[in-house]
Amino acid sequence: MSLNILFLAHVDESGTQLPKAAFEALGAALDVVAQAGGTLTIGLVGESVQAAAKAVAAAGARIVAVEGADFAYPRYASDAAALEAICKVTAPEIVIALGTSRFMRVLAGVARRMNGQLDTHLTSLEFVNGALTARRWFYRQRLEAAIQREARPWFLAMDVGCHAVWAGAAAAAEVEIIRVTLPAEAKRTSFSTIRTPNAGAQTIRPDAKLLFVAGAGWSKKQADGKTHLPEAEAVILQFLRNSGASLGGSKSLVDQSGENQAVLGFMTHLNQVGQTGSTPRHPKGLSTCCHGEEPHVVGWRFINERRAVNLDPNCGWARGKADVLYVADAFQVMAALNRLLAAKAQKEDPVPATRP
Ligand SMILES: Cc1cc2nc3c(=O)[nH]c(=O)nc-3n(C[C@H](O)[C@H](O)[C@H](O)COP(=O)(O)OP(=O)(O)OC[C@H]3O[C@@H](n4cnc5c(N)ncnc54)[C@H](O)[C@@H]3O)c2cc1C
Repeated sequence: MSLNILFLAHVDESGTQLPKAAFEALGAALDVVAQAGGTLTIGLVGESVQAAAKAVAAAGARIVAVEGADFAYPRYASDAAALEAICKVTAPEIVIALGTSRFMRVLAGVARRMNGQLDTHLTSLEFVNGALTARRWFYRQRLEAAIQREARPWFLAMDVGCHAVWAGAAAAAEVEIIRVTLPAEAKRTSFSTIRTPNAGAQTIRPDAKLLFVAGAGWSKKQADGKTHLPEAEAVILQFLRNSGASLGGSKSLVDQSGENQAVLGFMTHLNQVGQTGSTPRHPKGLSTCCHGEEPHVVGWRFINERRAVNLDPNCGWARGKADVLYVADAFQVMAALNRLLAAKAQKEDPVPATRP
């Protein structure tokens, strides 16, 4: 078998660099080429693609690109026109693309224009009985589908965090620029600004080694019959700072925050992990003051090592959902952990914390 494969990527908000997801998806594309044989073309879109092209040049593929101010920001009309032009020049059978929000907006339209078909949220590509097979999850990671299609071109949008990052040294790149002139109606939408919720931007860290999850117990009355929200906020924020962990929340806790109750001010629905929340990927997870109910634990499918702290020895985590359960008071455990992390940081970098 020999396939004509096109890999599509766009530069990130910097305007020149590729996002990490691009190197993951490129790794997946190179694996497919290695197994099927054939040719790989890299198609790039962005304001300026030279730096991005150098970053992927060592992959040894032909590089084509659409670049310019018109293609700096995500916009359906311009991105669709750029990807369509790249597809027309390269006539691929298989198109492997980043599943970023920018591309997810346009890939279905581009597949339609090319008379092809699209599958999204793919986690792996492999060959089964000689046929390219794409895998993805359905029903909140409970069912896994293995998809094969005869349609060509077949567009495959890869989910982030599912393939090892391809690492090649930057090298000189020869880029074939495809000129795309946009009609006035393709420019009716203009970019103004990117807004991200403060809490999400500060606390959700997809690349963190640890997912720290806070549950509603943090806002409940404790042994002294009182709630301790200010202490909860301080201890959690200090832990996030000390550990670099990403912050998740249980539905009960984020719902309280959404109702403007005096709960953890930095917790939003973006942090929610579970069936109706997200399914983040991290090597380790630590759950605190969260009961470990099934609709919540569904979101832990891709956490490799799970630990939990709960006062209740019969909580959901105790029933096979965590590798280790500490039956303990999370306020005390996290305070002790913060002391250990601060001592470790002090040992590694004894310069007083008065530096800017
Ligand atoms: C269709 C559906 C979808 C859902 N989707 C989701 C979802 O996506 N995500 C999600 O999270 N939930 C989801 N839920 C809700 C889920 O079933 C639970 O209600 C929710 O996860 C409970 O949150 P919690 O464990 O934080 O709170 P609680 O159940 O109130 O548990 C609080 C825990 O904190 C412990 N605790 C209290 N104080 C301390 C302390 N000092 N130290 C240690 N432990 C302490 C208590 O022992 C208790 O176990 C869904 C439910 C349904 C029906």
